[in-house]
Amino acid sequence: MYILVVNAGSSSLKYQLFDMDRQEMIAKGLCERIGVDGLFSHWVPGKGVAVKKIPVQMPTHTEAVAVAVKYLTCPENGCLTDMNQISAVGHRIVSGGPWLIDSILIDGPDGQVLKDLHKCFDLAPLHTKAHLQGIEGCMNIMKDVPQVLVMDTAFHQTMPPKAYTYPIAYEVAQKYAIRRYGAHGTSHRYVSGKAIEYLGKPDAKIVTCHLGNGSSISAVDGGKCVDTSMGLTPLEGVIMGSRCGSIDPAIVPFVMEREHIAVEDMGNWMNKKCGFLGLSGVSSDLRDVRDAAASGNERAQLALDILAYQIKKYVGGYAAAMNGLDCVVFTAGIGENDPDLRYAAMKDMEFFGIKMDAERNRDREATVISADDSRVKVLVIPTNEELVIASDTMRIACGK
Ligand code: ADP
Repeated sequence: MYILVVNAGSSSLKYQLFDMDRQEMIAKGLCERIGVDGLFSHWVPGKGVAVKKIPVQMPTHTEAVAVAVKYLTCPENGCLTDMNQISAVGHRIVSGGPWLIDSILIDGPDGQVLKDLHKCFDLAPLHTKAHLQGIEGCMNIMKDVPQVLVMDTAFHQTMPPKAYTYPIAYEVAQKYAIRRYGAHGTSHRYVSGKAIEYLGKPDAKIVTCHLGNGSSISAVDGGKCVDTSMGLTPLEGVIMGSRCGSIDPAIVPFVMEREHIAVEDMGNWMNKKCGFLGLSGVSSDLRDVRDAAASGNERAQLALDILAYQIKKYVGGYAAAMNGLDCVVFTAGIGENDPDLRYAAMKDMEFFGIKMDAERNRDREATVISADDSRVKVLVIPTNEELVIASDTMRIACGK
């Protein structure tokens, strides 16, 4: 059975085709600069890059989906012989708000599900618009193929009110559905599930650290999310590539007034001009920041110190919130690849039951990076959000 996973951005569309009998991704691709001067790339594992950044006219997401399907079914790539072999399409949705709380089958172009997705517009305007375009593109090209939405917010729906409620005027929060929704839920769900399997402990208390361009940390108790660092939007929480994370809210009007930044530009400032980039002045990419720190750039070093320090505080806080801790998991670009950051975040926590093994931490193949006598296990688990989306899609659309 073949499932196509689609991640639509405002001017891009990423896709992965899964052979669910083997639980393997068998092709993936990227349509960039949709609506501008389209570029298309397609990979087949084992064969390498089929095409890379070739110019293709893609005025809308519909043409982008058509190009993807053409490459998935072309004889040279040998993935599919016919488009009808795709059993269902799973769409990654950044925010389902309070309306779309679990993975769900789209009940037609005029059905309730897409009406609910439209309601999420205010919570994630750019993402929701792009998702709707991606869905429309898939529905236009694959008319009879079931389409499923898989929300990044779904895993966080189990948080209790004390974790998701902001202490602002109640009526305003109600009126605009302002609350903590979290993000990266599919990743937190995947890696916490793998950690539970690894530990053989279904009631494990776990802190999952998804550290990428965007980063979020979750508290997972017995497989259920009880708290998470991202909030109404993916701006809250730890320092990120170019996002500030949590700051004193009073800084916002303070900076706007003095720097003459308009309301509509302030979101851009906090999302694009802060974080590693703004603080270090070097880059939003952690590798560049680390290189700069190694050559003596103090601001770059400070950015790295802040991330490690904030992770440590989340781990401590969430352990207190859960009344215990069995395991800390690192995942995503930084979490999977930067041993120095993991070490800095987890060192000096012996009192807490965390003892790192410096050598294992540097072993790229290691899952456990804590010492044998560490009461709390520290694990590195590569995330696979697309496989979760494909599995949910198969279960919901095909009943398997
Ligand atoms: P996204 O949030 O866009 O999915 P990723 O999970 O791919 O992001 O993570 C991107 C981040 O991971 C970047 O900051 C990048 O520097 C970092 N990263 C990727 N590979 C490495 C590496 N080998 N060492 C350190 N950091 C890395």
